[in-house]
Amino acid sequence: MTSAAPPAVRPSDARTANLSRVLDLLRLSDGLTRAEVSARTGLSRSTVSSLLTELLDRALVQEAPDPTRAAGGRPPAVLRLEPSAGAALGIDIGNTHVRVVVADLGLGLLAEDLQRVDVTERPRETLEMVEATVARLLVQAGVGPGDLLGAGLGLPGPVDRATGRLGSATILPAWVGLAPAAELSARLGCDVLVENDANLGALAESLHGAGRGSRVLAYVKVATGVGAGLVVDGRLFRGASGTAGEIGHTTLSNAGPVCRCGNRGCLEQLAGAPALLAQMAEAGVELESAAALLRLAQDGHAGARRVLADAGAHLGVAVANLVTLLDADRVVIGGEVGRAEELLVGPLRYAARSAAVTTAGSSIDIVGAQLGERAEALGGAALVLREPVALGPALLARR
Ligand SMILES: [Zn+2]
Repeated sequence: MTSAAPPAVRPSDARTANLSRVLDLLRLSDGLTRAEVSARTGLSRSTVSSLLTELLDRALVQEAPDPTRAAGGRPPAVLRLEPSAGAALGIDIGNTHVRVVVADLGLGLLAEDLQRVDVTERPRETLEMVEATVARLLVQAGVGPGDLLGAGLGLPGPVDRATGRLGSATILPAWVGLAPAAELSARLGCDVLVENDANLGALAESLHGAGRGSRVLAYVKVATGVGAGLVVDGRLFRGASGTAGEIGHTTLSNAGPVCRCGNRGCLEQLAGAPALLAQMAEAGVELESAAALLRLAQDGHAGARRVLADAGAHLGVAVANLVTLLDADRVVIGGEVGRAEELLVGPLRYAARSAAVTTAGSSIDIVGAQLGERAEALGGAALVLREPVALGPALLARR
């Protein structure tokens, strides 16, 4: 029996691997100097310089002074991926809407579409609609099939990481058994990563919104459902099975109403949009949407303001528990109810600060989201660009 010698690594293969490594390093960072690229890769300054010359020539990377990093002197030149070197799709399927965005590698918006539809009962029709919308938007954005690095899909429920299926039989029951990412991947002809929608909102706000600079971020999405996404040191924290942050189904009151998840007194039953609209209806004010409730509150309607304030107080208790457990340094409140801003966030902040255990002298930083309704869809695109799968080879193959 003879044992074959391992195949020799050809210099050209080693160079391609290093080019790919530098691209992935830049993708996962917020801009690096040449010295930092050298330090993080362990490659010599001259090797890094040679690799960067090629990547700059191939228009995969850009280098520009970064004024935010000037420490008194001249701002250092910082390397980033060239935004136009590729594109990613973000698809946000909510309970009552579908939003699709096409973004460049800097997460800049190239094209967008929003449709108001009830997706809960119509999974297949929804996926068909997404397919048609994506085709239209890619043409609009001038993105060819070869430019597309992948898609990130957000769903309004816990997603089982192992199977890509919705992890709960009681939330979106019509979708149970479907593998939406695999279905969409076949339809769109690109990789599709699937994620809970609040996680995507958290990722986008942490990279480009109100969560920038936070080390342990909790993003709480208050909409039809209530959920939270957690980002620790720039990475999503999903828990063991992918359901971390299901704050909407934590129990606030054992005597509360029965929830769609089967528990009683869940936060969502006290602060989700349907609960708030039901409270208004009991007071004789029939409203169609959370947006209508917000408008009424902003116009000074005392009942609408009280409903939002009470929701804020309930959310504050749950947020305090979350912060106590995680030692989060910032909480970002988003979602369509979250857009009530201080009418909701004020009482929320008060309740949370009263109940949370924090280090002496510190208080929890609780702020409104900055990316609005677009956060989850942009987070889908960010997922493609930020997941630790190697994109370097795909980028190199393009130019
Ligand atoms: Zn529940």
